[in-house]
Amino acid sequence: MSAFRTIDDLAVEGKRVLVRVDFNVPAKDGVVTDATRIERALPAIEELSKKGAKIILLSHFGRPGGKRDEKESLRPVAKKLEALLGRKIAFADDCIGEAAASIAEAMKNGDVAMFENTRFHKGEEKNDPDFVKALAANGDLYVNDAFSAAHRAHASTEGLAHLLPAAAGRAMEKELAYLAAALAAPQRPLICIVGGAKVSTKIELLLNLVGKADMLVVGGGMANTFLFAKGTPVGKSLCEPDLAATAREIMETARAKGCDIVLPDDVVVAKEFKANAAHEVRASDAVKADEMILDIGPDSVDAIAAKIESAKTLVWNGPLGAFETTPFDTATVEAARFAAKRVKAGKLVAVAGGGDTVAALSHAGVEDDFTYVSTAGGAFLEWLEGKDLPGVAALKR
Ligand code: AMP
Repeated sequence: MSAFRTIDDLAVEGKRVLVRVDFNVPAKDGVVTDATRIERALPAIEELSKKGAKIILLSHFGRPGGKRDEKESLRPVAKKLEALLGRKIAFADDCIGEAAASIAEAMKNGDVAMFENTRFHKGEEKNDPDFVKALAANGDLYVNDAFSAAHRAHASTEGLAHLLPAAAGRAMEKELAYLAAALAAPQRPLICIVGGAKVSTKIELLLNLVGKADMLVVGGGMANTFLFAKGTPVGKSLCEPDLAATAREIMETARAKGCDIVLPDDVVVAKEFKANAAHEVRASDAVKADEMILDIGPDSVDAIAAKIESAKTLVWNGPLGAFETTPFDTATVEAARFAAKRVKAGKLVAVAGGGDTVAALSHAGVEDDFTYVSTAGGAFLEWLEGKDLPGVAALKR
């Protein structure tokens, strides 16, 4: 049995179900430009509709700061949802009060409605009890299908779970199952790959992962700080000298916990950071004063591939190099493709997410070939840090 209540635990027929989704999707000039998050919410919406629930969707959109702002209206998102569902949905101009109540009252079993941006009210981000009550007035049950907003203890992501019978939606359930399989109870050996720009944004994440992983690969700009901390000159590379002590602490913790830390043995250097700049491969301890490391080198990629080959589970966050700029995408692309091959062969469970990871994997053309790619951003990173996410904790049995 799942550690969290799910839709299976609720009797939804004829009930008004407040479903918290994350429809904070990219949009331009009132048109949704990436509907991935909406698509992921469809299974729960369609299932609840088939079961005869009255589905009321709640979401935030942008950062209107607690006041009404038409630029951050969910109307265009409701239009997109109508197109994806292939039917009309009602839209309430406000998520509480008369506008919301009249839409909710008119609903029939199986209907879907969307309420306006929860962040048009200050009470949302403050998790204000009066605002939670006003939201709850239009629901009998609460389903949270917004893992990507679960790191916030807001009224619609956490507060409602304490006022109404609550459960995880299908997308949330799926995400939690993959995350558990990746880090809480992984098939070992577990390899974690952490890349990206800076150590400073990932200290807690690295400290948590060294305690869990059998192997931890450090790549990207943050590897430079680790090399620097070991006394290796890194020239003009992105580096955080102030964090050398932290990097050493992470390496010591790894040693104490039996986690094999993998740093690049070779690197790709250039004198300028631009596409197709003249570049060379160097041993990582031979970087010259006027050079910068922009990717890890081919021997390091081979070493990482060998480690991935020996692993049963992979958790990946952050690119191994400056992947937006060719040819410094090479290591990220090759390592991602190798991991995808292992997944396809049934030898590896690979879960990835956070920040630029989704973009990096889609650049490598393997976004759909990993076992699971989380689009959750901040919530995924907090989960990698080992934090209890309030929106998830509220759904525990
Ligand atoms: P993050 O958001 O921390 O995952 O960082 C992602 C960013 O790190 C991407 O924009 C990459 O271009 C950048 N990055 C990765 N490796 C390097 C590097 N060696 N030098 C500079 N930037 C890098």
